[in-house]
Amino acid sequence: MTAGQPVRVDRRAELATALAEVRARIASACAAAGRAPDEVSLLAVTKTRPASDVALLLDLGQCAFGENRPQEAAAKVEQLTELRPAGGARWHLVGRLQRNKARSVASWAARVESVDSARLADALDVAVLRAMDRGERAAALPVLIQVSLDGDPDRGGAPADELPALADLIAGAEGLRLHGLMAVAPLGADPDRPFATLAELGGRLRTAHPGARELSSGMTADFERAIRYGSTCVRVGAALLGDRPLASP
Ligand SMILES: *Cc1c(COP(=O)(O)O)cnc(C)c1O
Repeated sequence: MTAGQPVRVDRRAELATALAEVRARIASACAAAGRAPDEVSLLAVTKTRPASDVALLLDLGQCAFGENRPQEAAAKVEQLTELRPAGGARWHLVGRLQRNKARSVASWAARVESVDSARLADALDVAVLRAMDRGERAAALPVLIQVSLDGDPDRGGAPADELPALADLIAGAEGLRLHGLMAVAPLGADPDRPFATLAELGGRLRTAHPGARELSSGMTADFERAIRYGSTCVRVGAALLGDRPLASP
């Protein structure tokens, strides 16, 4: 290093190390739970991070990315297309979605994990079928039903007693494919009980809809625990990309 020059952090190396660490933690959590490591996929949650980070993760072989704001996501999808024209990224929406954003989301989402009402499911179905007509997407949209595990409507998620009807509606929608459930563990509480509840709800869902096998649960603070309770997709932000600034959403 030349004197007087700022230390240049090699972001690619930093991300490579973090990605390897998270993958190793997923593998050991799977081993501890007697599960095969390929039963759990990693969704890199890139909200508030630049598209350049997404591009580097993609170079490192991480292909699935989660965003929680439709507008931020749509902009990043475009930026990534410029940075990496060869493509290969799959984008999941993991945050609240208003019906008036369904059209945009239908054009870029590989999966929407935050469907929590019949009205939203209907709006997405219509938007997906139109996007397919326009040639903006090739296939139906896989969705997860977000379940509320703490009964707090402000944090999103359908109450457990609404799941059967919502699942039937999605399963009957031409533009949607029901792939399973998603949940966020309640703030400040021990996640074991909610994760156990989610596993039980997932089991019940599969008796009516055998193809709905996904359980998206577990974040930086609790993904190993979520794996113990049957998670098939962990959504990890901070452990991969560093802490988000506190002021950011
Ligand atoms: C931000 C976010 C995550 C990732 O959280 P980290 O604590 O950074 O791992 C996962 N799921 C949802 C729905 C999120 O909004």
